[in-house]
Amino acid sequence: MAVEVRSQSAFATAQRRFDAAADVIGLSEDQRLLLREIKRELVVHFPVKLDNGRVRVFTGYRVHHNISRGPAKGGLRYQAGLNLDTVRALAMLMTWKCSVVSLPYGGAKGGVDVDPRALSTNELEHMTRRFATEIALLIGPERDIPAPDLGTDAQTMAWIMDTISMHSGHSVTASVTGKPVDVGGSEGRHEAAGRGVTYLTLEALKYLHIEDETPTVAVQGFGKVGSATARLLTEAGLRVVAVSDSKGAVHNPKGLDLEALEEHRQVRGGVSGFKKAEDIDNQDLLGLPVTVLVPAATENQITEANADRVRARLITEAANAALSPEADRLLNDRGVFLVPDILANSGGVIASYFEWVQDLQAFFWEEEEVNTKLHHIITRAFYDVLHTSVNKRVDMRTAAYVIAVQRVANATTVRGIYP
Ligand code: GLU
Repeated sequence: MAVEVRSQSAFATAQRRFDAAADVIGLSEDQRLLLREIKRELVVHFPVKLDNGRVRVFTGYRVHHNISRGPAKGGLRYQAGLNLDTVRALAMLMTWKCSVVSLPYGGAKGGVDVDPRALSTNELEHMTRRFATEIALLIGPERDIPAPDLGTDAQTMAWIMDTISMHSGHSVTASVTGKPVDVGGSEGRHEAAGRGVTYLTLEALKYLHIEDETPTVAVQGFGKVGSATARLLTEAGLRVVAVSDSKGAVHNPKGLDLEALEEHRQVRGGVSGFKKAEDIDNQDLLGLPVTVLVPAATENQITEANADRVRARLITEAANAALSPEADRLLNDRGVFLVPDILANSGGVIASYFEWVQDLQAFFWEEEEVNTKLHHIITRAFYDVLHTSVNKRVDMRTAAYVIAVQRVANATTVRGIYP
């Protein structure tokens, strides 16, 4: 069918992935036209007074891709160069992510074009509060619930929750997730994405009958998700031999001392130069002969330019859109098993869902309950995707999309088109 193709962009790539699933499902043309577009997008330009007395104007975004299955859900990121195209792509991914793990949410994303490290804490707070005010017309427990993403954290969410609450005249804790536990956050939310990556990696190793005595792991990106994953996989008995950050990578075939590495990073501001390992090139990390590769950094890290270097048997795609469609094809042809992003990193939004439910009920759970429920939901989704992949003879990414897109299409059909 003829559909408008935007220039090769992050959103065009997201649409390509959607189209592939729509073909497998045999989705009607009307459904395709609806689901491959964005529902609404808000772009804001807003001033913030800096510490030096000058004013700087920032650009921010909040995009809802689809809200057929419930309120819009998704993170806010602070990233230099962030643009509408990227936010659109990530909002669409959130729709499929919430759907594939059966959360009653639609998909959203947002953020500000800013390098948060270049601002003081005071400036960051003012920028966050003003940005929250600018997008407040979309936010609320029944409408749109933001969460942390790249460059934002629990403190950012506390400021946003407080700002929304000040406007409402009472505390609206369920308007944001990923908050500190003291203000309605959930136990276990902080490392839930890494925990989900860990559960799925272990499940995939079991399914693949990988019988390495101690499976080895390389983790690209040592941020919130990457560092939690490295620690939890080590606790589960795997050997993490390499990690990287934006400035460099370190490798020790005998396994990394993660606690010492974390201390080193706090002091040195990066993993490079760690005494108990060898410095290697970021690209070399991707080519290490490990059992599992976990790209947990950012988008487009494994592409046709470097996919042939990958020697891992399993990739758990912890970062959104870490693999390009070309890399997918090359790796799939070589039999590398992929746990795709919308499933792999869904632990974060699953725990966000738990946080929202707890806030709405004002009744809080212990961490063990959070982790048990997370394990249940994410493992069930893994086998749903696996069965679809085997039954429909499609790769794991397409299978995840098939399930996710079908559920959203069903919601659209039963709701009908208004008016
Ligand atoms: N930013 C995370 C993601 O990309 C979490 C979103 C959420 O918890 O709403 O999945």
